[in-house]
This record gives sequence, C-alpha cells and structure tokens, in this order.
Amino acid sequence: MTALSPLLTTATPVLVDHALGSYVYDADGRAWLDFTTGIGVTSTGHCHPDVVRAAQEQVGKLIHGQYTTVRHNPILDLTERLGDFLPAGLDSVFYANSGSEAVEAAIRLARMATGRPNIITFQGGFHGRTVAAASLTTAGTKFRSGFAPLMPGVFTAPFPYAFRYGWDEETTVDFALRELDYLLATTSAVADTAAFIIEPVLGDGGYLPAPIRFLQGLRERADRHGITLILDEVQTGVGRTGTFWGHDPAGITPDVLITAKGLASGFPLSAIAAPEALMRKAWPGSQGGTYGGNAVSCAAALATLNVVERDGLVENSAEQGVRLIGALREIAQDTKTVADVRGRGLMVGCEFVDPDGTPRPDLATSAQQAAIDEGLLLLTCGTRGNVVRFIPPLIVTPEQIDEGVEAWRRTLKLVDA
Ligand code: PMP
Repeated sequence: MTALSPLLTTATPVLVDHALGSYVYDADGRAWLDFTTGIGVTSTGHCHPDVVRAAQEQVGKLIHGQYTTVRHNPILDLTERLGDFLPAGLDSVFYANSGSEAVEAAIRLARMATGRPNIITFQGGFHGRTVAAASLTTAGTKFRSGFAPLMPGVFTAPFPYAFRYGWDEETTVDFALRELDYLLATTSAVADTAAFIIEPVLGDGGYLPAPIRFLQGLRERADRHGITLILDEVQTGVGRTGTFWGHDPAGITPDVLITAKGLASGFPLSAIAAPEALMRKAWPGSQGGTYGGNAVSCAAALATLNVVERDGLVENSAEQGVRLIGALREIAQDTKTVADVRGRGLMVGCEFVDPDGTPRPDLATSAQQAAIDEGLLLLTCGTRGNVVRFIPPLIVTPEQIDEGVEAWRRTLKLVDA
C-alpha cells in the first residue's frame, strides 16, 4: 500500500473532513477551534462563502491560463486591486505559488538589479525550504542541515531578540544595528551586498516583532549603501499583525515586498511587489513558471481582499489581538515557565523557559498536544521549539477568542508549566 512519506511529520492526529469559519471538523462532527489557520493561510476563515463563490465561478470559466503564454482577467484584476493595499511606489507585481518561490524571486531580482552577490539575513528568520530559501533560513538547524552545500553568499546578522539576550529593547536594537554595521565592515562589503531580507515579525523563529527602530535602521542603511531592503511578509501580511502589512507601524517602505499565505485564503498564491524601475533592472524573462498566478487562486485572492476590506478584518485583527494577548498574559502569570507572551495582532506566541532561561521545548510541545483534547488546535515555533503560537483567522469573534483562551487555561493546568 502506498502511504505518505514518513518524513512528513504532523502536529496533530486530526483527520479533517470539512471546515468552516474558525473551526475544523472530523467525519464524526467533532469540532476543533482552529488557531493554526493552516500556518496563517486561511485568513478569512475556512471556506468563506465569498471566496468559495469566486473560486467556483472561476473554475467553470478558466482554471489555468499560463501567464507567459496568455493573460487572463483574474490576474489583471487582482494586480489592480492589490494596488489599493501595496505601499506607495511598489507598482509592479510578479506572482508565484509558494512563499519559498517568491523569496527566491526576490533574491534573484536583488542580485540582478544591484549586480552584487551577497544577502544579509537576520538570525532566527524563516524564509522557506527550497535550497536557496533554506540558505537564508536560520530559524533552526533542522531547516538547513544535512543537505549541504547551501547557496553561498549568505551572511547572518543578529536579530534584536531582547527577551533572549536579557536586555531592554533599546539596548538590543543598538547592539543589533552595531553588529550589522560590523558585518558590513568585516565580512560582507557594501559593494558585495545586494540585499537585507527580514520578516517584520519573526514567524517560525518565535513570533518576535522586529522593533520599529530596528526596521527604520535597516531602511536608513539600505538607502545609504544602495542595498535592497526585502521584507518577507509571507506570514505577516494581509492583516495578520493588526495592520495590513507587518511593517506599517515602522513607517518605512521596502524595496521588495513578499506576500503569500493569507493572500488567497488557502489557494496557493504568492507575489513579490517592487517599483517598476527596480523590476526593469533585472533581465527580461528572468521571471516565470508554469503555475504562478493561477486563475482560480487570483480569483480567490481578489475575493479575499474584498472581504478583508468590507468586513474590517484588519481592524478586527488588531482588536481581537489585544484581547488575546491580554488574556494569555494574565494566564501566564500563574505559570512557572510561560515567561514571555508577545506578538502583534493575531500573531501571538507564548515562550516556555525555566527561571534560569533554559528553553523548554518539551513543555511547549506537551501544551500544544494537550490543547488538542481541549478542542483547540495550536502550533509550536521558535528557534528552540519552545514557543506555542496562536494564529486565529482574521474573522475570529471575541467569543471565539474567549473560547480559545479558556481551553488554553485548562491546558496549562494539565501541563506542569
Ligand atoms: N517566509 C515566511 C516568513 C514564512 O513564514 C514561510 C512559511 N512558513 C515561507 C517564507 C515559506 O513559504 P512556503 O512554505 O509557502 O514556501
């Protein structure tokens, strides 16, 4: 009998039969509150009626209109509509399917446009699993060891992870910017450095918001040195962090923005956006692919953007995020090991460490597993695997936040945290 690869590990034993809104169901009708959203993908909830309708209508009209062969309306309409949300000046869009592919497209663009080879990443970042994207990923050695050689030309600077360093945020930001300057002075010369790539909130690396002053410091250095600033908003984009883009609070504009996950509510679609003048610096024909910008995915993305705007889902993300983080912080006070609760919008993590700072991935996993029996699906993350992350859909209601919080309260009573 053929079976799925044993290397594909699964965080829960749930066999999903169907899903709607904030819940997934098995064939017996047992429900779980889904605070994983397929790793931040089902932004409008499962099977939002508008998204379902748009996809169904498109399936009957055109499924695949390969974009280097023909053009189709869903991709043109989506591109125009994205302009309502993209930062000013990022007026040129290339579509792919996965986050990793879009990351690779961004790297290719930055290298071609600058004529420089090196990429600087920030420790704990996650950018994907394809070999080039894994080369940029430092969210844990499990993503990058055992299949060497990785892509050369990648250098890693510290991410201002104040909780881990045990410093206040200002001190940590000063340190991280100083170390970045030192890296440029000692290891990757400005003349060799094509790009900085960073997530506005570290995702798989531990749900750590990048301090505003750090992002502004990157922008200032990128401008000064002619380095391309790439923001990987694969997980943080489309309202996830309580603003449309994760970098909005920093008031900066990236040179290249990468989006995926929440963009099409579950259909595979990713994109990079950049100023047209920057795109034109790369080689004609250097962007393409068989499936990118699939017509059904584009129709679903268009419906997603309409729902996000019409139903005020960015505002809801901000409001429910405040409710969630406040409740999780209150619960953490009664534990010995939930030492930090942090995040932005509906991207919230609880970090488990011993009083001496030793990471406790065992407790994070026990809690994530025990929550399943309490009717709540969660995931772990973090460079040491010791963070439990909460990723509700943007449509989540206050009642559903409270339901999840109560399930988490019960869970932590079962786990010796
Ligand atoms: N970048 C970020 C910030 C991500 O969170 C992810 C996926 N977790 C990726 C890139 C890679 O996306 P994909 O799995 O679709 O290749």
